[in-house]
Amino acid sequence: MTGFENDITATASQGAPRIAMLGNADLSGVFRGRSLPVERFEEAVRTGLPWVPANILLSPLNTIPPGNPFGPVGETRLRAGGARTMVLPARGERPAALLCLADICTTEDTPWPVCPRGQLKRAIADLEERYGLRLEAGFEHELYITGLQERPTPAFSLAGTRAVSGIAEEVQAMLRTAGTRLDQFAAEFGAHQFEIAAPVLGALEAADHAVLAREAIRDAARARATHASFAPKPFADGPGSGVHIHMSLWQGDTPATAAGDQLSERASAFLAGILAHLPALIGLTLASANSFERLLPSNWVGIYRCWGARNREAAVRFCPRSQRADGLNPGASLEYRLADGSASPHLALAALIRAGMAGLEAGLTLPQGVECDPSDLSASERAARGIDDLPSDLGLCLDGLEASGVLEAWFGALFTAAFLSVRRNDVADAARLGEAYRAAFSATI
Ligand code: GLU
Ligand code: MG
Repeated sequence: MTGFENDITATASQGAPRIAMLGNADLSGVFRGRSLPVERFEEAVRTGLPWVPANILLSPLNTIPPGNPFGPVGETRLRAGGARTMVLPARGERPAALLCLADICTTEDTPWPVCPRGQLKRAIADLEERYGLRLEAGFEHELYITGLQERPTPAFSLAGTRAVSGIAEEVQAMLRTAGTRLDQFAAEFGAHQFEIAAPVLGALEAADHAVLAREAIRDAARARATHASFAPKPFADGPGSGVHIHMSLWQGDTPATAAGDQLSERASAFLAGILAHLPALIGLTLASANSFERLLPSNWVGIYRCWGARNREAAVRFCPRSQRADGLNPGASLEYRLADGSASPHLALAALIRAGMAGLEAGLTLPQGVECDPSDLSASERAARGIDDLPSDLGLCLDGLEASGVLEAWFGALFTAAFLSVRRNDVADAARLGEAYRAAFSATI
């Protein structure tokens, strides 16, 4: 599979859509947009739909940051982003609905800099233009499904998989209407925790897939009066849920990540850029106050600023797979582990590409890989190996991100003002709600 291959037969099997919605995951990872009767869909694809700039500032709890750059003024447009659509099935009195991924553009139809999908397109184009490289990505998402009838089942068990096989089947049917699928829907470690794996796709397709797959799961779960939560830490005493992003570099059709078990020079520089910018990067990939509750040592989260071959305690795990006869390793990937469901998948990938490009540009070299749980090293051993601590909460992380200047350099001044106001509002939401924040947040994300 190389992308999305729309399947008309699959679409028809969901029933005729009566509602269409143009939208995308926003800066908080929440899918928002505008709906209309399906008869108006073609016209909406042609002309776009009006969209209020301040909408992108909403927190998962629906608060708007005070002192944000937009207020009540201005106008943008939702534009169908390459007609990437998925059909949600008819259910009882609810007719089938057509979801269409959108870009947010200016009223002159140029990319609006705060649009995460537009920023990813720009990053992809720059990587190709400056380095002749393209990035393929495979997202793994962990999630909990609450309200299931079954008693909690053993980790990774058949019983766990069976508990959600109805949901999984329906999700595959929805994704088939988008011409794609899931490669896995399996029981995870926590009670009623699951993991889905997407196929490896081009970077834009991979982020689009991440958004569609989550909405498909949410819809199938809702239809059974259960709730799918991709929140990073929905339960204080349960394992967290991460988003693991597998990345591989390609020059045309030639694998450029690794030969045998050795990272290529370019992949090393790309990875070194990610590690160099990690404290700033996590401000974009761990996008909520809840994210930082997940960051525990020795929980396979990868909280340490290092990389390691096959090491799940490193922020980036290098996964060499089997090499081809010519020595190249087409399945090899760099798995970035410090992302979660509160981040826009488009923005997370855009930021990873920007950080990787910074590594390529500066010709950075990699420190030695780490082959143990870094918690087993003493603080001074970690310091000697350059494994410094990452910011411990979102507020500190944002201060560092702002001070680093990378946000502005990568995404521009308007994006920076909007993004920082949204994220600081999350910090305020969490402070205001105290203990109630985790549950309120997990009910949306
Ligand atoms: N649930 C872990 C996390 O928070 C990841 C476990 C795994 O390696 O699949 O990232
Ligand atoms: Mg997992």
